[in-house]
Amino acid sequence: MKYISTRGAIEPIGFQDALMMGLADDGGLLIPQSIPDLAGRLEEFRTGNFAGWQSWQGRWGQASAGGIFEDPHYYACLALEILKPFADDLPEDDLRQLVQKTYCGGAFVPHPAPTVPVGPVHVLELWHGPTLAFKDLALQLLGNLFEYVLARRGGRLNILGATSGDTGSAAIYGVRGRRGIHIFMMHPHNRTSPIQARQMTTVLDENVHNIALEGSFDDCQAIMKTLAGELEFKRRYSIGAVNSVNWARVLAQIVYYFHSSLALCTSSKASKVDFAVPTGNFGDVLAGWYAMKMGAPIRKLILATNENDILSRFFNTGVYSILGNVHQTLSPSMDIQVASNFERYLYYRLGCDAAKLRDTMAQFGRSGSLNVQVAPGAAVDDAIAAGSADTQEALSTIAQFHKKYNYVLDPHTAVGVAVAMKHAATAPDGSVPVICLATAHPAKFPVAIRKATGQDLAHHQAIDGLMTLPTRCQMMPNDAAAVKEFIVKTLD
Ligand SMILES: *Cc1c(COP(=O)(O)O)cnc(C)c1O
Repeated sequence: MKYISTRGAIEPIGFQDALMMGLADDGGLLIPQSIPDLAGRLEEFRTGNFAGWQSWQGRWGQASAGGIFEDPHYYACLALEILKPFADDLPEDDLRQLVQKTYCGGAFVPHPAPTVPVGPVHVLELWHGPTLAFKDLALQLLGNLFEYVLARRGGRLNILGATSGDTGSAAIYGVRGRRGIHIFMMHPHNRTSPIQARQMTTVLDENVHNIALEGSFDDCQAIMKTLAGELEFKRRYSIGAVNSVNWARVLAQIVYYFHSSLALCTSSKASKVDFAVPTGNFGDVLAGWYAMKMGAPIRKLILATNENDILSRFFNTGVYSILGNVHQTLSPSMDIQVASNFERYLYYRLGCDAAKLRDTMAQFGRSGSLNVQVAPGAAVDDAIAAGSADTQEALSTIAQFHKKYNYVLDPHTAVGVAVAMKHAATAPDGSVPVICLATAHPAKFPVAIRKATGQDLAHHQAIDGLMTLPTRCQMMPNDAAAVKEFIVKTLD
């Protein structure tokens, strides 16, 4: 498989190069040159009747008592089948080892992505990784892939990141202790939640460098930008990023759409499912969109936004436009104004025409607005329904699910569930089950849970233990030169 840029100005490159490049050199996003069709293999995947799984079983014995869909080794075998056509410049045995190490090596307990029934919906729990958020599913694999490629090419990678809270810890856990990699993660001092700061600063591996900046998140990002412009420094110190546009992150997320839809179709006898996806940068929905194109049994994706609703407005009107400022909500990982992965979708929506995409993005850059053609009376995309749920709706959904089903939703997941319930009310179709993606464990957001339920319900041992652990963190003034000097001193 070769990768090209949405902006059409790079030579096609292989998977390993795409992995290391992140953002395409022409400023576009990397996409696979074609989308593999796995529809003909669904029956094999549903039953476990394929060589990869059978040889694993031959060597190690039966699946978990709950069946293949509860067995993490099955998840890894399925991941291999899905990743293989996209990463065919990696020897298959090496890729197998990498996915097994990622998904069966103890990082995800008891399973990377269990699907459980809760009241009228099914919940795909994506928070069983080390930082209790769905980003672990992609970033744990990314860390293993980086380490592998660097070892073979003899390079090193020094990741510089800025975080307002959640992505930072998942990135840190993805690369902690890995050979050839250092990570420098800036967060605004005293402006993340105490849990979020602790999740990062309690990681003591010598390759992890937390920086608490005396400034805001915007200041952290401005420093990122300044240092990204210093090409000599970047080249000399192999500075890279683990941004949300790295293709391998999207790829890793395709797997759980296959896994969950096949698991539910098997247990419920449904032929297709809907997925409700709480959305920020459009990475997660995009993975679902690819899964659908690849043949996973998905009828519709239900895209859910909070008050920051640029994407749900787009899928209802065809107009993608910035309105006002970012709203601070109780689902902070969805508080974004412009979705970094949207360009990939737009490329396909514009008929894979890179010139048209460039023009459209340039127009968006100038005016803060773009639009696509929608036939009268038609949906913007038949495969994607979209809606938003505000803070009140999210809180009452958390309260309702706790009261009726004794299940505590995190505030991001609650946005998805609320939109799914509204969608079910307006377009009832009881024959198609809905799977709601649970993107974080509620213990990460105790303030929201207390607000919703009036009780202190949200606990997890990994979070409760944080406050007593030792930390390591470097305080820094809001000054790009100081941050640069710290990086140079650490690496030299
Ligand atoms: C990142 C994140 C999201 C949004 O995912 P995107 O891929 O950016 O759309 C939703 N919920 C949680 C908890 C997150 O961390």
